[in-house]
Order: sequence, then structure tokens, then C-alpha cells
Amino acid sequence: MIDYIILGQGICGSWMGYYLLKEGKTIMVIDNEAPFTASRIASGVINPVTGRRVVKTWMIDEIMNYAAEAYKEFQEAHHTRIISETNILSFHATQQMKDAHDTRLPNQLDFLHIPENESQWEAYFNYRFGITEVSPAWLVDMPSFVVHARETFVKNNCYLKTDFKWEDCTVTNDYVEYKGIKASKIICCDGAAGAEDNPYFTLLPYAKNKGEVLILSIPDLPRNHIYKQNITITPWKEDLFWVGSSYEWNFSDDKPSATFRIKTELQLQQWLKLRYSVREHISALRPANLERRPFAGIHPHHPTVAILNGMGTKGCSLSPFFANQLTQHLVHGTPITPEADVNRFTKVLARG
Ligand SMILES: Cc1cc2nc3c(=O)[nH]c(=O)nc-3n(C[C@H](O)[C@H](O)[C@H](O)COP(=O)(O)OP(=O)(O)OC[C@H]3O[C@@H](n4cnc5c(N)ncnc54)[C@H](O)[C@@H]3O)c2cc1C
Repeated sequence: MIDYIILGQGICGSWMGYYLLKEGKTIMVIDNEAPFTASRIASGVINPVTGRRVVKTWMIDEIMNYAAEAYKEFQEAHHTRIISETNILSFHATQQMKDAHDTRLPNQLDFLHIPENESQWEAYFNYRFGITEVSPAWLVDMPSFVVHARETFVKNNCYLKTDFKWEDCTVTNDYVEYKGIKASKIICCDGAAGAEDNPYFTLLPYAKNKGEVLILSIPDLPRNHIYKQNITITPWKEDLFWVGSSYEWNFSDDKPSATFRIKTELQLQQWLKLRYSVREHISALRPANLERRPFAGIHPHHPTVAILNGMGTKGCSLSPFFANQLTQHLVHGTPITPEADVNRFTKVLARG
């Protein structure tokens, strides 16, 4: 019998596997390698401020430092480049947005700055209301992180590519068994798919959110910044840029839409002065939820079923911190941050 089955190898499953192996645990990671998942198309930005009101992201002081160190440790162990420090140039689309940043400047000086030589960006962008620089911020190569994590699982003989079906899984109060793989627990890291397919957790307040992205070539744009107005332009692999994204609450499918492409290109043409070409148009669902807080912990009524999910728009920064916290909880019994602990839904999950 092994210690844990991990269902799903997005960013959550990858970090769970990483930390459990570090604790000397035996695992089997199962993933169906769906091509367009949140972790495979995310830009990987860790932004310390958020929203139109420009407030600090939840727990950011603790979480950003933790995440930066975790990705650095991972990249050293895998002899690759996963994370880089960067800044976000926030171009204000209206006077109102400029005012929102200006009001915050004296209070959040650790993250908000007036950029040096602001007018240098006039060669690249149209803007009338100034720029605020957000720094430090981090950029994580999420697709590459997932690929490197998988390679390690494969090397350790603890990876299985298959479409997991719950009807083939036996769950008792003592063990879980899936097609001959017997484990003391299953950890569900199945992302947005889990909101519908996972019989243990569908009652959680998921609110799936669709994100669409254009991948562009913009040969003359400097690659050492993230540019943000209503859309974000972020350096992406192979000298390309990631441009997006949408936050769609109402959608009929998870596929790229003509509406997004037209709207985004219109915004680009008004903002960007440089020539560009569209290379790809991709989309995926974010495992968002109504509370905007993760789901981490052991199912309150099924002791062999655990979860790490519900990362919404912040999986890149939240997942290393909460994967480590869940690992410590499983292995050493230490507590999980109450706002993220799935036990806050003990009553809701009793209805399942
Ligand atoms: C357009 C977009 C941009 C984003 N940008 C950012 C960003 O800049 N910064 C940030 O922090 N976050 C960002 N996010 C959010 C971030 O991507 C998510 O929070 C995070 O990737 C969620 O990771 P996950 O592992 O929970 O889920 P997923 O990435 O969905 O992974 C779940 C995995 O489980 C597998 N799986 C599911 N069901 C099964 C099954 N039955 N059998 C086998 N395998 C299964 C899936 O194939 C997948 O590989 C973005 C998301 C999108 C869509």
C-alpha cells in the first residue's frame, strides 16, 4: 500500500507531489494530460496588489515570499529557470484609475512606485493618465513547472497518465483503491473538473471562471516587464507574449471565442503602438469559488479523501504555500489556515 494517490497534476497536484516526496512519502500522481487547463495556460504572474481599489492581495506578505523561495528551490533542484523577479507597469486607462493608485501610493509604498523616466514608454504605448509601477512582482513559467514536476514523478515511477473515473475507485474509511493502486488517502487536485466530476466535493461553493488568452509575437517590445491596462501583456515562452485574459462567469463552453479575440485586438490596437501577429488563441477554466479562498484539508466526513483546490485566479502564488501546509497537516497533524481549511464546509459537505 502506498501513502497517497494524487488526482490531477496541475500546479496543485505538482506541489503536493513535490512536498510529499520531500517528506519521504510514497505517492501515485494521476493526470489525463488535458491540453488546455488553467495551469497550462496561465501567465504565472504573482501580483502583490489586486482589483480596481488597488489593495494588497490576501496574505501576500507571507505568501509571496514563500512562493518565491519555493519556486527557486524547485528550479535549483531541476536545473532549470522557472521564476524571475519582475515589475508590472500599470498604465491607467482613466483619471479615476490613476487617482485610485495615487491614493494608495503613500500607504503601500512597499509595492507601488512612480516609474523612472515614465515618458520612455511613449514609443511603445498610447496612454494619457500615467503609469504606476508595481514591484517586486514575480513571473513563473507555469507550463514548464508542470512539465518538470511530471518528469520527476515519471523518474520516480509515481506517475500514471489516465482519465480517472470515480466509479473505478473504492473509498473506505481505511484506504482508497484505484485499479490495483491501494493508498491510505486520495488527494483531489483536479482543478475546475473537480467542481462537477468529484462526488466528494461538488457541494463546495465553486464558481468556475473562463479565461481566454492570445499568444502574440511583438518583436520590438522589451521582455523584462509586465504591461497592464485593461488587458495584460506578459512575456511568454519562445520570445512570444501572453495577452489576456478574460474573466467570464457566463459561458456555454470552455473553447476560445471570436468575441474575445475581436475585443482584445481592438484594445491592443488602441493601446500598443508596435506591430504584432497572433500566433495562438487558447482558453481554460479557473477553479474559482465564491469565497475566493482555497479548499485545503481532509474531507470532514471521509477520512481517506483530501483536497487542494479552489485557487481561482491566484494558483501560482497560493499553491506552494497551501500544498506545504496540507502536507504538514497530513504528515505531522499541524493546522491549516482556518480561511482555507475545507472543514469550514463541514455542514455543507454532510449533505453529500
Ligand atoms: C487564462 C488564465 C490566466 C491565469 N493567470 C494566472 C496568473 O497569472 N497567476 C496566478 O496565480 N494564477 C493564474 N491563473 C489561475 C491558475 O491558473 C489556477 O489557479 C491554477 O492553475 C489552478 O491549478 P489546479 O492545479 O488547481 O488546477 P488545474 O490546472 O486545472 O489542474 C488540474 C489537473 O487535473 C487533471 N484532471 C482533472 N480531472 C481529471 C481526471 N478525472 N483524471 C485525470 N486527470 C484529471 C487536469 O487535466 C489538470 O491537469 C490563471 C488562469 C487562467 C485560466
